[in-house]
Amino acid sequence: PPAAQASTLDQARAVLKQVFGYETFRSGQETVIEAVLNGRDAVALMPTGGGKSLCYQLPALMLPGVTVVVSPLVSLMDDQVSAMQAMGVPAGAIHSGMQGAEVMQVLRDLQDGRIRLLYAAPERVLTPAFAERLQTLQVSLLAVDEAHCISQWGHDFRPEYGRLGELRQLLPHTPMLALTATADHVTRDDILQRLQLREPQVFQSSFDRPNIRYLVQEKFKPLKQVVEYVKAQRGVSGIIYCGSRKKTEELALKLQVEGVRSAAYHAGLPHEEKRQTLHGFLRDDIDVVVATIAFGMGINKPNVRFVLHYDIPRSVEAYYQETGRAGRDGVASEAVMFYEPGDAAWIWRLFDEQPDSERLRVERQKFQVMTSFAEAQTCRRLVLLNYFGEYREQPCGNCDLCLNPPQQYDGTVDAQKALSCVYRTGQQFGVNHIVEVLRGAQTQRIKQQRHDELTTYGIGKEQSAEHWVSVIRQLIHRGLLIQDIRRHSALHLAQNARPVLRGEIALTLAKPRIQAVAGAKVAER
Ligand code: ADP
Ligand code: ZN
Repeated sequence: PPAAQASTLDQARAVLKQVFGYETFRSGQETVIEAVLNGRDAVALMPTGGGKSLCYQLPALMLPGVTVVVSPLVSLMDDQVSAMQAMGVPAGAIHSGMQGAEVMQVLRDLQDGRIRLLYAAPERVLTPAFAERLQTLQVSLLAVDEAHCISQWGHDFRPEYGRLGELRQLLPHTPMLALTATADHVTRDDILQRLQLREPQVFQSSFDRPNIRYLVQEKFKPLKQVVEYVKAQRGVSGIIYCGSRKKTEELALKLQVEGVRSAAYHAGLPHEEKRQTLHGFLRDDIDVVVATIAFGMGINKPNVRFVLHYDIPRSVEAYYQETGRAGRDGVASEAVMFYEPGDAAWIWRLFDEQPDSERLRVERQKFQVMTSFAEAQTCRRLVLLNYFGEYREQPCGNCDLCLNPPQQYDGTVDAQKALSCVYRTGQQFGVNHIVEVLRGAQTQRIKQQRHDELTTYGIGKEQSAEHWVSVIRQLIHRGLLIQDIRRHSALHLAQNARPVLRGEIALTLAKPRIQAVAGAKVAER
């Protein structure tokens, strides 16, 4: 009944104020909290810093029994527990870094109702002993933090997360809440399925991080470019992501020689060294960490002013997550990526050498989107947000393409040619085939499909393949064409392609800045 709901929310607002000291809920918190308080499953997709933790911390105080939070970050659990305890929230943790006696104490506290909020490592919750214990407790809410780790398709799959679906059988009546800052559509579907969520209330807040300026620079002499960039930053905090461990060490050394307080971080370094680097960075004793993706989740430093990608990441999800570590305090920050098409060609080659599998196909698709971002001709923020399902019209004014736009032309006719070609071929082919049909190529597939008999066959002969690839990519970015990565990247028309096809509106496109793939460079490696 509405009256009861209102009073639940009123109570929640009171707890928000009294315990957490906040006046109002942030966008989405209210929706998610209301759902779980009413016993519903929920999914919270909010960017880093969006306030996800509150979505289970607050219900933990309002629901009877205990709220269990599964989190992959052992290093952060103890901090979170202390922070909760300092606010007077009875909290505890269970993870592999604890002594047997400590674990026993936590279990006793749980049994005696002295813990309302339990942080647990995924490999812990599903041990037979603990699973049995869980069933004897009153578990009112199960929260799965960093839920994208459950997805094989995600950029951060954790095998320990793979079995979390079993929680549903273990505690069939307990509502579940999945939280993550980055999940594209494939990953989202995977989360829902693997956790066996039941008609969850899905809340997605905007993924926009307006204070981050997105910049892509052509990779030329990268070492020199990095040094120049970092020195120009004058001692602010930054993270540089590299594709290999060796490069992180080389680059950190190079920066040290240049007088920059920097350190390398990767999974192959001794635990103690990594710990010191992380703490040095958090304390501002180290300005620049040069890292692999191992420097990851839980880097909760508010004043990171730049994140620089020395190499192109494998997916937009990963890129978004990594750049998202910049500017958590809301202050203007930069995300810079060095890009060279040859790097992408190299990664394509690595893909080609692997045996075909569904996983490989998904990885290829994700990388394809990443390269489109790097080669985008229109506002990069629009490309990013579009990828996460957020459509916008207005260019952002805070990315390299908005600030320094490439040349524009009236692309209406080009767009019509490309769109009608997609339509006439039955909306089941990818970019390359469409380009081949447009250019009147004579391929096996064109003959088989009799696409050489279509009216659109060869209507784009006078332009290069690169031109058409660029046009189609722009149409995808603009949301006129949709590329379904689950159907071999087949293109189909979006609703708003119609007015363009019918000639009701004109479309300005960017002239492609055609960059040849540096074949020689690829061969060098
Ligand atoms: P996330 O887990 O989504 O990255 P956090 O839960 O760490 O984000 O929250 C980010 C910051 O926002 C924290 O400092 C938190 O205290 C603060 N915060 C959360 N909710 C609110 C709110 N309703 N009002 C003000 N600040 C909030
Ligand atoms: Zn922009």
